[in-house]
Amino acid sequence: MKASKTVEQNGTNLEILFVGRSNVGKSSLIKELFGAKVRVGKRPGVTLRPFHVQLSDLLVTDMPGFGFMSGVKDRKQDIVKDKIVHYIENNAERIKLGVLVIDGPFFPDVVDRWDARDQIPIDIEMFDFLREVGIDTLIAANKMDKVKENEYDPLLDEIAARLGLEPPWENWKHLIAPISVKKGELKPLKSLLKDRLHEMKRDDLFKYI
Ligand code: GDP
Repeated sequence: MKASKTVEQNGTNLEILFVGRSNVGKSSLIKELFGAKVRVGKRPGVTLRPFHVQLSDLLVTDMPGFGFMSGVKDRKQDIVKDKIVHYIENNAERIKLGVLVIDGPFFPDVVDRWDARDQIPIDIEMFDFLREVGIDTLIAANKMDKVKENEYDPLLDEIAARLGLEPPWENWKHLIAPISVKKGELKPLKSLLKDRLHEMKRDDLFKYI
């Protein structure tokens, strides 16, 4: 059990890949999920390299954040996207699960802003790409602590719709996990991760989640 910056290819049978726009809380989430079990070091601000946590034969990979990054030029963002796509293509066989982390309350606006420019938002592109290459992909809708109780379901419906998943969002509870890393409310995601590990007959890995 250790965190490292280099891929520990040896003995990895399955990999869970975390992707998401910068600032959605992806690294906080990984720290919260696996930080107690491993030493998750501080990452340099902007990195193009994936960050790995090895938990017996399970590799957890945090891909570089895509989309807006302060001080980073557009071209660098394309490089980030290409790197992620290549990484996925090269490791598709062992990547059994993807987790797309989004900023829940912010997501519909982000998507609409791209739509207005006739561009496909990178989140959607990545979600579609992961599924196209056959990777079962969950959506972790983070920062739900910012949402009032009566806005909770309507927001999740909007998120589902923008991902091409016809509302109501409850129909997609096997894919969409509303969470709040800030409040430590990760249960919906943990339970989906465990469902998938169970389907893979890997209940032995529950101890890490
Ligand atoms: P990353 O760039 O996706 O790895 O995002 P970070 O983990 O660095 O988090 C970005 C910012 O979002 C930080 O200021 C976090 O404190 C904040 N954040 C993370 N999770 C939550 C959450 O569940 N709720 C709220 N309100 N803020 C969060």
